[in-house]
Amino acid sequence: MLIPPARPVGRELPLLRLVVPPSEPIQQTNNFSGPSQKLVLTDDLKSEISRENERLETAEPQEILRWAAERFGQKFTMATAFGPEGMVLIHMLAEVAPQTPIFNLDTGYQFKETLELREEVKRRYGIEVEYKRAATSVEEYERQNGGPVYRTNPDQCCLHRKVQVLEKAVIGKEAWASAIRRDQSPDRASAPIVGWDKKFSLVKVSPLANWTKQKVWAFITKHNVPYNPLHDQGYTSIGCWPCTRAVGIGEDERAGRWSGFAKTECGLHTS
Ligand code: SF4
Repeated sequence: MLIPPARPVGRELPLLRLVVPPSEPIQQTNNFSGPSQKLVLTDDLKSEISRENERLETAEPQEILRWAAERFGQKFTMATAFGPEGMVLIHMLAEVAPQTPIFNLDTGYQFKETLELREEVKRRYGIEVEYKRAATSVEEYERQNGGPVYRTNPDQCCLHRKVQVLEKAVIGKEAWASAIRRDQSPDRASAPIVGWDKKFSLVKVSPLANWTKQKVWAFITKHNVPYNPLHDQGYTSIGCWPCTRAVGIGEDERAGRWSGFAKTECGLHTS
């Protein structure tokens, strides 16, 4: 049984400074012009990130999450696509910082099994993962663009349905948790535990950066963590249904994403 700890309270953050431009309009999707508030990477913050990254390199993920939740309070958030690593982090957050706001980028193209997992998280952990969506429905978006954009320009589709939605979702936030692992791909090989995400102007915390796939699944089995049943059907990495296929024996675990395109990342974890 999970016993939530006393609610951590975010410390005062003397090192952080938010820049708020005067009444900049916030727009979404195709003409989204970017976040209206950005955390500034001061020299002090840069030093702190470097220090904590070094200190936490060999720490357990729970300790890393606890540090982030105490350091940033409600300005610490997590985005999840309910992958195995994300489910491990949700399980850990339920124990060490259950008040952390968690959201899912609901592109409109997610598998029904993925959406059902959100309900399972609510049942099992009492955590309501918030959907964040583009302003346009899938139907409107495809009508505006003369058909499914994922077929012709998946970079643009990911930009509109994921990246720009995340930019808006993290307005006012100072740090976010990601579930990436270094051994997932060359793009992720040098991911720090605590780093600066210059794309979104946030402190990025990756508690599982130095975990392996085997370690993730061992944790899931040991703690009976819920997971997407599509993993049992050969889907090693799951994103939107039009851009995900099961992989064959010997294939890279992310080979089923954007198969047929040179694309390997949705743009959330690239600078
Ligand atoms: S993964 Fe595919 S369907 Fe989903 S946002 Fe990216 S291109 Fe569009």
